[in-house]
Amino acid sequence: MTGHLDGNALAGPLADFFSFDITTTTGRCNACGTVAEFARAMVYMSGAGTVVRCATCDHVLAVLVDTGERAWIDLAGVSAIEVRR
Ligand SMILES: [Zn+2]
Repeated sequence: MTGHLDGNALAGPLADFFSFDITTTTGRCNACGTVAEFARAMVYMSGAGTVVRCATCDHVLAVLVDTGERAWIDLAGVSAIEVRR
């Protein structure tokens, strides 16, 4: 590899990953290794945000926070997400 591009080069390759309905994707739990559709996860919604837990081991897969003006997502509990085209 002779050089690098800046992050703008990710616009094309990441377009598939940030334009999908996550409930149709498959993710791998970092704790137990279960691979399952996000639609099967356990979701806990409150005023502070949304916590998504693995249906097999209860590990936190994702945390979503939405303040109205800004939104954050933490997918640290998922080691991989598969998007089917
Ligand atoms: Zn798990």
